Amino acid sequence: MKEFNLDDVIRKVPDFPKPGILFYDITSIMMNPEAFKWVLDKMAEVFSSRNIGAVAAVESRGFIFAAPLAEKLGLPLILVRKAGKLPGETLKKSYELEYGEATIEIHKADIPVGKNVLIVDDLLATGGTLKAAADLLIEGGAEVTDVFSVIGLPFLNYSEVLKDFKITTFIDYD
Ligand code: AMP
Repeated sequence: MKEFNLDDVIRKVPDFPKPGILFYDITSIMMNPEAFKWVLDKMAEVFSSRNIGAVAAVESRGFIFAAPLAEKLGLPLILVRKAGKLPGETLKKSYELEYGEATIEIHKADIPVGKNVLIVDDLLATGGTLKAAADLLIEGGAEVTDVFSVIGLPFLNYSEVLKDFKITTFIDYD
């Protein structure tokens, strides 16, 4: 597959949502159809050979990349949502963020027991979000071997938090 310089299309916003945070904004990827297609095609290429049984999408920017991937690979799509959004019986977990705290939920009935679930988000910072999602899926009886994020910030040490999983990112920033 032809390479693409993602850095050219990722908008960087200093001091958002609070002073000292450099925000990597993926809305500029979706504004560029060639860039968005490159990311989705590369995700399909990487994960079609990794024995994935379902895709889990982390609210909200993870939804944008996970949904087309699930459709491309013909796999079920599980939503990992912020607390209070899912109507059915859920498994729930709170965790620390790079800035603040959050709680996520997954429909218990949507967790595929014994199947390998790929977790997808837009950006990996501390790794807390993907670790909490993995914990919930595993608690519900699924397996998790792989996590994916378009962007990685390795200086925030996500590889330590996610040491049990194979981590794939398409671009890293120091
Ligand atoms: P973490 O749980 O620390 O890995 O944080 C990842 C989540 O927070 C992702 O859903 C990101 O969308 C968001 N996030 C954290 N830090 C940033 C950042 N510097 N720029 C953009 N999004 C971020």
